Formats: sequence, structure tokens, C-alpha cells
Amino acid sequence: MRKGIPVSPGVAVGTAYCIHEIYVDPETPCLEDKEVTAELDHYEAARERAMADLRALQAKVESQVGHAEAAIFAVHESILRDATFSDKIRTWIAKERLTAQSALHRLINEYTSLFARTKDEYLRERLNDVRDVVLRLNGHLSQVTRRGTPQPVHGPLIIVADELLPSQVVALGNIEVKGIVTQAGSQTSHAAIIARSRGIPAVSGVPGILRHVNTGDTIIVDGRDGHVAINPDAETRSAYRKLEREFFHLKDELAANRDAPAVTADGVALQLQANINSLADAQAAKAMGAGGVGLFRTEYLYLTHPDVPDEEEQLKTYRAIIAATPAHEVTIRTLDIGGDKTVPYLGHTHKEANPFMGWRSIRLSFEHPELFLTQLRAILRAAAFARSKRGKVRILFPMITTLEEVHRIRKMVRRACQQLDKEHKDYVEADIGMMLEVPAAAISVDTLLHAVDFVSIGSNDLVQYLMAADRDNPKVSHLCQPLAPPVLRVLARVVEACVRAGKPLTLCGEMAAQPRAFVLLVGMGLRSFSMSPAFIPSMKDLASHVTVAQAGELLQRVLQLRTTHRIKRFMRDQLTRIAPSSNWLDTE
Ligand code: PEP
Ligand code: MG
Repeated sequence: MRKGIPVSPGVAVGTAYCIHEIYVDPETPCLEDKEVTAELDHYEAARERAMADLRALQAKVESQVGHAEAAIFAVHESILRDATFSDKIRTWIAKERLTAQSALHRLINEYTSLFARTKDEYLRERLNDVRDVVLRLNGHLSQVTRRGTPQPVHGPLIIVADELLPSQVVALGNIEVKGIVTQAGSQTSHAAIIARSRGIPAVSGVPGILRHVNTGDTIIVDGRDGHVAINPDAETRSAYRKLEREFFHLKDELAANRDAPAVTADGVALQLQANINSLADAQAAKAMGAGGVGLFRTEYLYLTHPDVPDEEEQLKTYRAIIAATPAHEVTIRTLDIGGDKTVPYLGHTHKEANPFMGWRSIRLSFEHPELFLTQLRAILRAAAFARSKRGKVRILFPMITTLEEVHRIRKMVRRACQQLDKEHKDYVEADIGMMLEVPAAAISVDTLLHAVDFVSIGSNDLVQYLMAADRDNPKVSHLCQPLAPPVLRVLARVVEACVRAGKPLTLCGEMAAQPRAFVLLVGMGLRSFSMSPAFIPSMKDLASHVTVAQAGELLQRVLQLRTTHRIKRFMRDQLTRIAPSSNWLDTE
């Protein structure tokens, strides 16, 4: 039994499928003498293709984003040209009879242990560049040699990986995944977000697990308390299988409410929308009975794209998502990159000391006006498509801190509209909203809300900034608590200000799908929530057990309590009484 951070609730028992950065089948024999020349040729062919890729990427990013941003690809190309780099590989192939992929595997391990000893951030960053180049080479090699791609697998599987990268998720395609375990990551890592949006139990932050699990092993993932068991005994296995069946049964039972309206026990209507990252999530949102999409995180469009998605590509994706979404209502958030998510061409040439307080999100969009305008134009054009289907698109801007930023955004949107007018392109002037996720914005909500058409609380960030505790750092994640007394006070003030001003308000952080927090938010007067699609049926069910008056009373009692621990315990006791099945969704 190992313990990690529970990031997506539920229980799964299944067959492990390990994803290594470079897959080298342990059974691969050494090369025969007569195979060496061909292997060296394979390596050369892959190197040529990788260099051609990098040159094309550099040209595209240079024309669409800028010269400085494209420079990273020149750096990667220079690594491929570096004599020491290729000499090592060639020597291992020729002298030690390694396959090119085994040689790459050895190279990355060698660099990793070398760099592990350095404290120099700059050098550590260079390791990421080397890794990037090696993975690109590896991709081409597996195409050339057809070796190194794991045997096709069939679900349902439990994925075990270091960290699940967006590109790996895409590569998994339609394989049925029933659980995820990662070595790195936390509540808000990519793996966690994917797992929650699909309702898959997941545990992150289990160091070294890849060394102890092999593809084919039986593995248990308990996403309620973060336990992972490898090759458990028959008794443990059957106990967990029973829990797994109960979890599935509950999910099925709840999903049956998909066409029912979301209302409290005393008949007050709630809006339950979905947070999505992709078209597949929009389809899941429909299946779960979402009332539209409250947050489309567009960064995944950039993260999973081989280079920069241009206006037409974006428009195509937005349209497909609008077409798949219930009522065709989609809130599209502009690029929220930086912090924990980066793309190579958006120039973080060296690591920032405080990335979450640094150059991320809207701050980055302002510095790339062309990139920003391209996205705004695509969204405004998508809004015209939504209107043709009697739906609606709203534009949401992340990480707003000051009123000046809102003014600047309005100016950019006007510019995009003028351009589209001139080009006679069809568009709609969509509503403009701000993510409220920076404490400064929460304090000044009264001033800010008049400048926007709607507000969406990003509680994941708001909580980490209020508590000054990085949401991705397991050492301090115990402080990142949405039920902490100061967080609840700030939220109650923000909700009150928006309700008083009649400003449409949603909350789209993870707490929207946490039963205890959900009830307290209803008590504050919040009526619109956006969450991972998989949670919508459960929250609909929970709402039907609670009256608004009851939620208000619980909130008043909670606001008297002085510690997070007491609030959690109090709310757990109350919910056990009011809606016992909601306990399934509670992590610790
Ligand atoms: C948030 O901060 O609460 C949010 C919804 O956005 P993200 O998790 O993408 O930062
Ligand atoms: Mg955020």
C-alpha cells in the first residue's frame, strides 16, 4: 500500500499500464553486427526529420507569435547538431550494440542524474530542453523502426505515469481508462483535471511508483484517501471490488437524473454547467446533463497543438464544441498559460522564481497582442455560430487584477471587432466576464463588477493566493483549503456584492463539486456553478436534498467556527444526515 494525494474520488481495481517517457521493451536483444549500420541510418533519418520539424516550427511561431518566442526551437535544433550529443548515441549503437531507442533512454537517464545534483535553475531548465529533443527524436524513431511503441493495449486499464502530459492523453485515444496514478502532480495537475472531468478515480504524488509497478500488474486506486495497492492479496482485492461496484452503481443511479432540472429541495433553480478542456469533455457534459459549458479552458488547444493554432483552426474547434454543448451555451476563457502550464514558444526562457505570481494568463496575452487578437477574433466569430443555433458564447478573461486591465481588454475586443467589420466577417459582440481569482480583485469587487458583464470565481487560484500556499506544492497543500474560515468570508462578501449589483455570477473552481463547499455556497446566495462534468449528477442530487434556508443556516453556523478542521467536521456530520451518498465525493 502506498499513499499519495487523492485527486479524483472513487475506487478502481484493474490492470496497470505504465507509461514511460521512452518505452524500451526489457526483452529487446542487443543488435547483431549486421544490424548496426541500418540502426545508425535510422538514427540519422530520425535526426534529419526532427531538425526539419524544428525549422518548420521556428518559421511558423516566428510569423504568428514573434522572433524571440521562436528562438527556443533554434536552441533545440542546436542540441541536435551538437557533436557530443550525437556522438554518444552513435558510439552506444556501434560499440555496445544498443538500439537507437535504448541509447536515447540511457542518454536521458544519464543527463537526469547529472542534472539532479545541480542547484542551478538555469541548468535544470536545459535538461527540459534536452528531454524535449530526445522525445521528439524518439517519436520519429518509433515511426522509422516501428520498435519502441508498446503493444496495443485494451482497456479497462489503470494508467501509471510520471505525469500525464496532454500529448499522452491524446495518444491514449479511446482506450478505456478506469484509474490514474502519477508520480508527480497534485490536485490541479493535468492528470487530476482530466481524471475529474471523466469521473475516473485518481491519485497523484506517489514518488517512485513506476519502479514498483509493471504493465499487467493488478493495482487498486482509492481516490478517496489517496491509497494505491500493487498486486494486493485476494482479500483486499475482493473488498475493493465490492467498493468499486458500489461506486459504479451510485454513478449510474445518479446519471439517470440527467434530464431533470437542477433545483433545491424547496424548488429554487440552480445552474449546473461544465468545465471542459476539449470536445470529448463537451460530449461528456451533454451525457451528464450539464446546462451548458461554464468554463472552456482553451489552453489545452495550445498545449496539444504541434505549434500555434491559427484563427481558422480555433474557430473550427470552438464551433465543434458549441455544436456538442447543451443549449449551445459556452463560456470560452482566453489563454491561461504560465504558472503550472507552459508552451515552449511563449518564452519562459528561464524559470521564474514565483511563476504563479509572475508572467501568466492575461498578463502574457497582453504582451502578445497578435496572438491575443487571433484568439479574440476566433471567439467572436464562434459567437455568431452559437447565435445561429440560438445559443450564446461569452468570453471570460483569466487572472484579472485591476480595473485598467478590464479597460485594456475592452479596447482589444473593440479592435478585433473593427478588424472583422473591415473584412466583412460574421461575428457577435459577446459578453465580457472576468475570472475573480486574485485577492486584489476580491477586495475591489465593487468597483470591478461594473466594468464587466459577468463574474466567474476561480476558487482554485483564489484559495492558493489567499492562503499564500502553492496549490501544486504537496508540502503546503494542507493550507489550500476552500473551507478555511478566511476563504469562506471572502467568498461570502463577493457573492453578496454581485447579488446586490444584479451581476451574473458563477463559481468554476473545484470546490463547486465538493459537497460541503457546494452547500455553503448555496447558503451564500450563489445559484450558478461550473464543474467537471462527472460531478454534475451528484451535485444535482445533493441540491435536491437541501433547502436554501437550511443552507443559509449551515453557513451562519460555519461562519462562527474558527478552524478549517471544525468546519469540515461540522459539515461532514450535517451532510451525513442530509445526503449520506455525498460522502463518496468527499476527499479527506
Ligand atoms: C480556478 O482558478 O479556480 C480555475 C477554475 O481556473 P484554473 O484551475 O484553470 O486556474
Ligand atoms: Mg485559475
